[in-house]
Amino acid sequence: MTDFTTARPFRHDQVERWDGETDVAIIGFGAAGACAAIEAAGAGARVTLFESGSGSGGASALSGGEIYLGGGGGTDAQRAAGFEDSTEALEAYLMMAGGPDADAVKVALYARESLNHYQWLRDQGVPYKGTFLPGKIIEPAEDDTLIWSGSEAAWPFSETARPAARGHTIQFMGWGGGRKLVDILEARVRALGVDIQTDARALSLIADAAGRVTGVVVRIDNQPRFVRAQRGVVLATGGFCMNQDMLRRYTPQTMRLNDPIGENDNGSGILMGMGAGGDAIHMDEFFTTCPWIIPESLVKGIFVNERGQRFINEDCYHGRVSRTMLDQPGDRVFLLVDNAIFERPLDLARIEIAAVGETWEEVERELAMPEGTLAHTVHTFNRYAAEGQDPIYRKALEWLKPLNEAPFAALELNIRTSFFSFFTLGGLNTRPSGEVLDRAGEPIPGLYAAGRTTSGLPRWGHGYSSGLSLADCTFFGRMAGRAVASAQPT
Ligand SMILES: Cc1cc2nc3c(=O)[nH]c(=O)nc-3n(C[C@H](O)[C@H](O)[C@H](O)COP(=O)(O)OP(=O)(O)OC[C@H]3O[C@@H](n4cnc5c(N)ncnc54)[C@H](O)[C@@H]3O)c2cc1C
Repeated sequence: MTDFTTARPFRHDQVERWDGETDVAIIGFGAAGACAAIEAAGAGARVTLFESGSGSGGASALSGGEIYLGGGGGTDAQRAAGFEDSTEALEAYLMMAGGPDADAVKVALYARESLNHYQWLRDQGVPYKGTFLPGKIIEPAEDDTLIWSGSEAAWPFSETARPAARGHTIQFMGWGGGRKLVDILEARVRALGVDIQTDARALSLIADAAGRVTGVVVRIDNQPRFVRAQRGVVLATGGFCMNQDMLRRYTPQTMRLNDPIGENDNGSGILMGMGAGGDAIHMDEFFTTCPWIIPESLVKGIFVNERGQRFINEDCYHGRVSRTMLDQPGDRVFLLVDNAIFERPLDLARIEIAAVGETWEEVERELAMPEGTLAHTVHTFNRYAAEGQDPIYRKALEWLKPLNEAPFAALELNIRTSFFSFFTLGGLNTRPSGEVLDRAGEPIPGLYAAGRTTSGLPRWGHGYSSGLSLADCTFFGRMAGRAVASAQPT
């Protein structure tokens, strides 16, 4: 039997027989693939969706179903909660969140269209209760649907973009509304008559001598099937946090972490895209977080590294703080708390008490740090905090408090043993239309991609905010579906 590889496309002129034919082949039935299918089928194209699992889902179904939305004066939920969110503020925030190489074109389009996208989601049947839950939240414990989900109110973001809560979670009781989100999208996909093939793994793209992608080889019933895609193929297979070889090559920092989160993030779509000549960018970027902000009183503590030095304003998004922990020397950072704010961290976080003392000097000694390091950091912090200031990292007043009530403790977050969940943010370089670009910046005919197979709105681990991935998957999945449906058939 012929060996098929993600590393290069199968040659079109070597296909002996076509087992199937469609206008649009979509690979992967998570949020990005589903949204691409809805738009492509809605535009009248014949769409076939191939999913290697036994049903829809992917990481999307494991998620909190939270989507980053706003701008244009605000969604109804934002306005009801008193946020007059402007498109300019949303755009400015997304540019910061995207890091030094944010995709300005995608950001501007998303900021402009975010309210319409919210309406589109509602039109598909996604419910939003419209109630706002203030404070530091990972996902609502009940069925509220608006939360602060990033670093909007924290320095330096708050200085550039007027803060607004933008994390819109699907109405769902408790954590994990992603399954409901995907079920709703799947119902639309089915209603539009999309041909859904499950237990169908894409093995290789098919391309002609000129490099145009003309189809895909899919394994069904343990047999390779050659599927002709007249208008194009959309890669929506998620990221690569579960592919050890890719992590080692492209994202070695994650080798220190033990908890990839996803369903089937094997990187196959990225590899197929690269094999067809696609450029993959920001492959070293990833989201990571240890859920240290629960209970939220801990946010009033301060982090120090193994040298006793503070390194961030702790009121930033928990993922930004967690990502910055990996930049510190050694594997351990310590969250310093006093008696007034101490509460037991979540068991899930695997955070241990490393030292306790009646003075900060005692805590410092117990951690075997050189004299005057940690203690100096805390005393300096306390002196300014007592005046309502944090001139070094500008932590907001709401979370600022001197750590002066004994006993004191250092809680250890260990990169190698605490729960640092992660998923990848690097992927294929695409236009807002989902067209995959080669290294010269030219589109590869017939090839599109969306979701975590691409490097999209979220592309910088230090700026990631909850809801950005699904915002990108759902919106740019739609854009890819529209574009491929209107491509010239070959
Ligand atoms: C626990 C958890 C909570 C999260 N919460 C949020 C949140 O609230 N908001 C947010 O924005 N982000 C969240 N994320 C991240 C977000 O869920 C993902 O980044 C996003 O869902 C990725 O969507 P996708 O469509 O690109 O990929 P996926 O949803 O992973 O879908 C890809 C699909 O492709 C299939 N596939 C893979 N390879 C092949 C192949 N070769 N052939 C055929 N099929 C293939 C997979 O089986 C999978 O079903 C969370 C992630 C996790 C794990």
